[in-house]
Amino acid sequence: MSTPQRILVIGGGAAGFFAAITCAEKPDTQVFLYEATPHLLSKVKISGGGRCNVTHACFEPEQLVKNYPRGGRELLGAFHRFQPRDTLAWFNTRGVETKTEEDGRMFPTSDNSESIVNALNDAAQKNRVKILVQHGVKTIQYLNEKFEVELNSGEMELFDKVIIATGGNKSSGGLAIAESFGHTIISPVPSLFTFHIQDNRLVDLAGLSVEKVKVHANGTKLTTEGPLLLTHWGMSGPAILKLSAWGAREFAESNYQFSIEINWVPELSQTALSKKLNEIRIAEARKQIATFSPLPIPQRLWERLLIAAEINPTTPWAHINNQQLDKLYKQLTQAEFTVTGKSMFKEEFVTCGGVKLSEINFKTMESRKQPGLFFAGEVLDIDGVTGGFNFQSAWTTGWLAGQAAGDCP
Ligand SMILES: Cc1cc2nc3c(=O)[nH]c(=O)nc-3n(C[C@H](O)[C@H](O)[C@H](O)COP(=O)(O)OP(=O)(O)OC[C@H]3O[C@@H](n4cnc5c(N)ncnc54)[C@H](O)[C@@H]3O)c2cc1C
Repeated sequence: MSTPQRILVIGGGAAGFFAAITCAEKPDTQVFLYEATPHLLSKVKISGGGRCNVTHACFEPEQLVKNYPRGGRELLGAFHRFQPRDTLAWFNTRGVETKTEEDGRMFPTSDNSESIVNALNDAAQKNRVKILVQHGVKTIQYLNEKFEVELNSGEMELFDKVIIATGGNKSSGGLAIAESFGHTIISPVPSLFTFHIQDNRLVDLAGLSVEKVKVHANGTKLTTEGPLLLTHWGMSGPAILKLSAWGAREFAESNYQFSIEINWVPELSQTALSKKLNEIRIAEARKQIATFSPLPIPQRLWERLLIAAEINPTTPWAHINNQQLDKLYKQLTQAEFTVTGKSMFKEEFVTCGGVKLSEINFKTMESRKQPGLFFAGEVLDIDGVTGGFNFQSAWTTGWLAGQAAGDCP
């Protein structure tokens, strides 16, 4: 009988567990999983507001990759091998039923992240993964065909292969280890955040939402669409979060001081909107303009946009001149707002940045700098928009790394 390969997975998060289990399912492997803190799967536990948005109901790799501001190109091949359908099958086989919400987000039917946590823990146990908490890895050197791993405690241990799944946190240690093997680190900055905006048009409107807006970041090529939520401090909702993800690096460089332009009625073309406003002016000639919102935006927001267009809300439609109508049109389709800062989105946040992707073989997740060294999860320069895409990349890269590391030699 051959001696099993000793494989170390660093990091007890989604990617680390998936890598460790996949690897341990292979013959002739002895898998260790070291977690620096006393807690395993802590992000999985709190994710999706305690429900764990485990993946997204998007089963075409070509479509799926469009949800990754960083990593989409590299993940295409990887998703052809392990995609949301495989994630669901993986959890279903291990007793976790899932459901899809209207917007495509998928959760365990229990609405409790513990279902996911338990399935991962059980699978790790069943496959005899040796899990050790409070085992932070400090440094790694490759000497005499072995990885010499130094723990924070000062202990040294030897392994045949190592999978780094230490997450996106700058201080995690994984990035420094990657750097010590010659990897380039794209400096991490936050992604998925909400915008701070102080503007008279928004005062006291917190809680209002608009079903579909188009948001453009001025001075960039970035435009997103989707629901928008007005908050006490500014704006949130899918359209804003998506923009924060795609512009994560540009916005960090501007120190989160930039301006955006909002089209509150993107479903109406320029001609259709002008026609509609003109028609209402005739049909509702005697009614005060603020009486009701003729467009799919909340009444109170409609009133604020009128004031911003210098239209007295009590003015009858018939008295609105073309110049005023033009100003209103501008407020409806190109309303400019100044962003002065950001807040993290409490439901989900990730980092943009990490180990440079061209230095990784995406068929195996193996380092191109050091054979036998693998990477999975957010430690890589991969991040998705909100909706289950971040876990999906952790499952996929973890699975690929586990498969490849578990193969001999
Ligand atoms: C509040 C919140 C909610 C979220 N909700 C969702 C969601 O619903 N859906 C979704 O798709 N995404 C969600 N995300 C994003 C998702 O959680 C992450 O993208 C995903 O957890 C990344 O997994 P990972 O295994 O790469 O890293 P992590 O989960 O960060 O795990 C890395 C682990 O490595 C350990 N570690 C670090 N350094 C060392 C070291 N030197 N030695 C040993 N161990 C080390 C860390 O302590 C940590 O436990 C959420 C994120 C947050 C913060």
